Amino acid sequence: MTWLQDAERVMLGTYRQAPVVFTRGEGCRLEDTDGRRYLDLSAGIAVASVGHGHPRLARAIGDQAARLMHVSNLFYNDRAVELARALVERTPFDRIFFCNSGTEANETMLKLARRYWYEQGDTGRTELVAATGSFHGRTMGALSLTGQPKHHTGMDPLLSGVRHVPYGDAEALRDAVGTQTAAVVLEPVQGEGGVVVPPDEYLRRARDICDHAGALLLLDEVQTCYGRTGRFLALEHTGIEPDACALAKGMGGGFPLGAMLCRERVAGGLPPGSHASTFGGNALACAAGLAVLAIFDEEELVRHASAQGESLGRSLAERVSRHAAAVDVRGRGLLRGLQLAPDVDPVAVLARIRERGVLLSVAGGDVLRFSPPLVVSAAEIDEGLEAVDAVLQDPPRKEPS
Ligand SMILES: *Cc1c(COP(=O)(O)O)cnc(C)c1O
Repeated sequence: MTWLQDAERVMLGTYRQAPVVFTRGEGCRLEDTDGRRYLDLSAGIAVASVGHGHPRLARAIGDQAARLMHVSNLFYNDRAVELARALVERTPFDRIFFCNSGTEANETMLKLARRYWYEQGDTGRTELVAATGSFHGRTMGALSLTGQPKHHTGMDPLLSGVRHVPYGDAEALRDAVGTQTAAVVLEPVQGEGGVVVPPDEYLRRARDICDHAGALLLLDEVQTCYGRTGRFLALEHTGIEPDACALAKGMGGGFPLGAMLCRERVAGGLPPGSHASTFGGNALACAAGLAVLAIFDEEELVRHASAQGESLGRSLAERVSRHAAAVDVRGRGLLRGLQLAPDVDPVAVLARIRERGVLLSVAGGDVLRFSPPLVVSAAEIDEGLEAVDAVLQDPPRKEPS
């Protein structure tokens, strides 16, 4: 118990952390300080994309650490150039800025949007439009974009010039976007908001609305990036080309790595001196990113995620009709959500499932989120769903208020 007592004494209490201390992992399995094993269907919130302890990723990080970790952005390094080249080849984007997290990737997009119009001589275009229920990160800029008031408590004043419109509602978006709009920022699927998939035409209409008003369209693919939705990037489901996008979570397979990707025509928006990151694009992080891409190719993870994601979606849909405690199921690929009935206690459900040795997370307050490592097998998915089934048969209820 001393691990837990120490943790609760010395860690800043910003999280509601479950009473488990993990020490190691392999594939979709994790082990805690008591030697207990768990099936991880959360992947550290969509981060451990190639599974825990992948030998090829571990070797790449070890080899690179011995060769070169960091030289600063006063110089180039070979790993960063190689990773940027690989991403340009695989996406509709032309230029890359590397950073260390999703929130930083979004801050970079924000600054690009504001500065781009300044460089164009259009100083009236400063407004940013984002969606309600969105999540873009926790630094003040990304937080201001985040459309969840609970995250804003006590943090005022936020960034000015940000408007929120209902997610998935193209009419509302059209009414909010005009000659004052610098950019619209959207997630292709809202992850933290509760695994919300917008109507089919939404992103295409958002692109049209932005083109019509002359605004930039920026996609936050931090949670959906690298195969999570069954495509390399979620934007491929719609065929639209945004002006920029933000990546992070899965791209380092657990190593901190984020990126802002943009098209050539807006790349002048961040000229020399306008933005920087000391750690961003260091050789070690980029070597991890390159190893992740190599594993994606070798193990055909996008195709695998698409196939396993389809079957996870089907199995979840069957469960919704079976249990009164489940009211909706949604998502794409290996990002799926099962919404619980209003009288069910989501945090207690999560704890019961964990006691059965399976790890999930809650999104949007009442949605059980499945975001397993993309290497997950059909047998592992079945095993996880058995635990969910058992708990939903007689789920813990909320205290009547
Ligand atoms: C997790 C997440 C972020 C924030 O990423 P951090 O790495 O925690 O800063 C931003 N946007 C989306 C869509 C996310 O899911």
